[in-house]
Amino acid sequence: MNKFALITGASRGIGKAIAREFAAGNYNLYLTCKNNIAILNDYSKELENTYKISCRPFQCDQSSFDDVKTLFDNIRDLDVVVNNAGISKFGLLSDMTVDEWHEIMSSNLDSVFYTSKLAIPFLLKKHSGTIINISSVWGNVGASTEVAYSTSKGGINAFTKALAKELAPSGISVNAIACGVIDTDMNREHLTSEDLEVLREEIPADRLGTPEDVAKLALQLSQSPSYMTGQIINIDGGWI
Ligand code: NAP
Repeated sequence: MNKFALITGASRGIGKAIAREFAAGNYNLYLTCKNNIAILNDYSKELENTYKISCRPFQCDQSSFDDVKTLFDNIRDLDVVVNNAGISKFGLLSDMTVDEWHEIMSSNLDSVFYTSKLAIPFLLKKHSGTIINISSVWGNVGASTEVAYSTSKGGINAFTKALAKELAPSGISVNAIACGVIDTDMNREHLTSEDLEVLREEIPADRLGTPEDVAKLALQLSQSPSYMTGQIINIDGGWI
């Protein structure tokens, strides 16, 4: 019997690569995105045909509890949750509007609470399963001009450690993957190719990370013993 994984924000970037890795690992998938549902529909069909799994795409704004509740009305079984959906915003904190602050917090942090809250009953029933939160090295050390983003990811790290303690007696693991610079739209939208080149020079591994690097780690984490829990695992090429 195939296991079931929910991966949020799977239409692009890291979430898309995680979806392929889990499909190749014989998981049936529930995938979400906020806007690009046509792309996600096509991608889901491709994964179903290539890997002979079931893959259901949903348009769901993970920052809306109503949307997440509707998503869970369609979920029948769950073994793995990857809370990946997120956004970033660059700029000085003093220039940030209150609405922008709340948008980052609700997209990056409230979303993780909503999805985890509704997923936990499925995992408790099985006395097994794993929650993987996609975080950032900025959640560990903070970044200038990304104060709100760093705060949201620091919140995810604390959420991960606390929930891991709450769920360990039930055999459920909760871990976070703290990414360095991964080559996706998120960075390409804000950074020039010169900026990315400067970043590459700072990274001991001498390259940006790929979504596939993160995806491989996510699948490995889902296969780790449940005793490994409450960890924030950096994947940054030795950068931070
Ligand atoms: P990306 O290329 O911009 O893709 C973001 C994905 O999240 C898209 O599928 C997008 O859907 C979805 N999404 C955004 N807000 C959503 C919402 N409210 N509800 C549902 N889906 C939503 O970003 P990425 O680089 O892959 O980032 C993925 C995760 O990794 C994020 O949590 C990010 O903070 C984290 N991360 C990334 C880096 C990096 O260097 N790239 C570093 C550290 C951490 P649509 O296509 O519909 O918009």
